[in-house]
Amino acid sequence: MENRLRLLYALQLVDSSLDELLEMKGDLPQIVADLSETVKSKLARKKELDELIKKSIVSRDETDSTIVELKEKIEKYKSQQFQVKTNKQYDALAREIDFSQEKITKLQREMESLEGKSATAKTDLETLTPEIEASQTELADRKKELAAVNKEHEDEELKYQHQRDKLISRISKPDVQMYERIRKAKEGKAVVPVQRNSCGGCFNRVTPQRVLELRKNNALITCERCGRILVSDEIVESAKSTL
Ligand SMILES: [Zn+2]
Repeated sequence: MENRLRLLYALQLVDSSLDELLEMKGDLPQIVADLSETVKSKLARKKELDELIKKSIVSRDETDSTIVELKEKIEKYKSQQFQVKTNKQYDALAREIDFSQEKITKLQREMESLEGKSATAKTDLETLTPEIEASQTELADRKKELAAVNKEHEDEELKYQHQRDKLISRISKPDVQMYERIRKAKEGKAVVPVQRNSCGGCFNRVTPQRVLELRKNNALITCERCGRILVSDEIVESAKSTL
């Protein structure tokens, strides 16, 4: 039992050190993640706009040549109208001319709408492009900052991580689970010393009877108020010397 408590408290010490390192990085990891996401979505938007503009240019060329063809057809029908012998044939050609004319009007309208969209896309790009550049610059700066902080504490972090792995391998799985559960619920502190007869986590008074029990180091005793695991000074000292 003594060993079990010692290992759990040692794990707490290591995790608290890792928490402190994480604290030093502050919001930087989140800022970098958010900025990466912003840049990614802005680049996707830019791609969409570029494609719309390109499509509009291709479509313009295609429509222009289709309209030229239709106009040629109309001319041909008109000259044929002079050669026909019956009213019926004349009317048939007139219908063809109307039909082609309608087609031209429809194509021109579609083209105008696409060109309108393309013009809006160009305006949007004018705003978007400098925005992307600004976000990319900020992202690069923040990444550099984060890399510097990471590098500064790299060795420490590795050391703690290594200690943590070793401890975890020596603690039973149910104990690790219990520890993680309390740690998650109680601001990172699952195992705390009893200081001046009070819980080191919530500072609630621990009864003398429980303090006596605790000093025997032969039972897992939790704080009646916050549920954290309580350990004696003896355990605290021996855990420190383990690390
Ligand atoms: Zn407590």
